[in-house]
Amino acid sequence: MNMSLRKEVWEANLSLWKNGLVYGTQGNVSGIDRKGGEVYIKPSGVAYEKFTEDMIVKVDTEGSCVDKKGLKPSVDTPHHLFLYKNIRDVGGVCHTHSKFITVFSILGIPVPALTTAHADVFGKEIPVSGYVDNTGTNIGTELLKIYKKTGANAIILGRHGLFTLAETPSKSAFYALMAEYCAEVSYYALIAGGFTGKKVMPLDRKEIEKWYSRYHSSRYGQI
Ligand SMILES: [Zn+2]
Repeated sequence: MNMSLRKEVWEANLSLWKNGLVYGTQGNVSGIDRKGGEVYIKPSGVAYEKFTEDMIVKVDTEGSCVDKKGLKPSVDTPHHLFLYKNIRDVGGVCHTHSKFITVFSILGIPVPALTTAHADVFGKEIPVSGYVDNTGTNIGTELLKIYKKTGANAIILGRHGLFTLAETPSKSAFYALMAEYCAEVSYYALIAGGFTGKKVMPLDRKEIEKWYSRYHSSRYGQI
């Protein structure tokens, strides 16, 4: 990786703002350096307009600040750390309250895999958890339970928002963008299905798997 992890985490956080996935100071992306035992994450309560790379906070895997810049890490840091501790191949975690994902979180229904774009990126529906508050390890435990059950790298947290898990911070932010896109498309399809009398069904499972494996094979893209 040419880019430093700090820079990648900063750019991934900014991408949430640029893509309209966050409001106010909401949202956060982190990345872990497993060899160094360090996690880079967005500071708490900083406006995106004033957010610079050197504001990224570095913590150890227990959540203590490593470099003393005076900024506190995101209040969601414990949830990120819990996921890194319990899912060893995760390198980046992202959290948003993007609008259409939040609608599904309120309804408590998963985002169905209706299109090939959804199948490409996620390979399954985006599952939704029950409601939990943010004390202790409640959020992390709930997310881990859903992850173990489904293997999904994007999980809707009931009455709250979205968490995504990926190999890198930038990929976790990309998953948040695509999850919002899929939620918006599904929302309109389900509404339109209601007033046109068309039953909106997910793609066939075999088709979903085919699109997913094609997208994730080395034959796709420029590499
Ligand atoms: Zn939140």
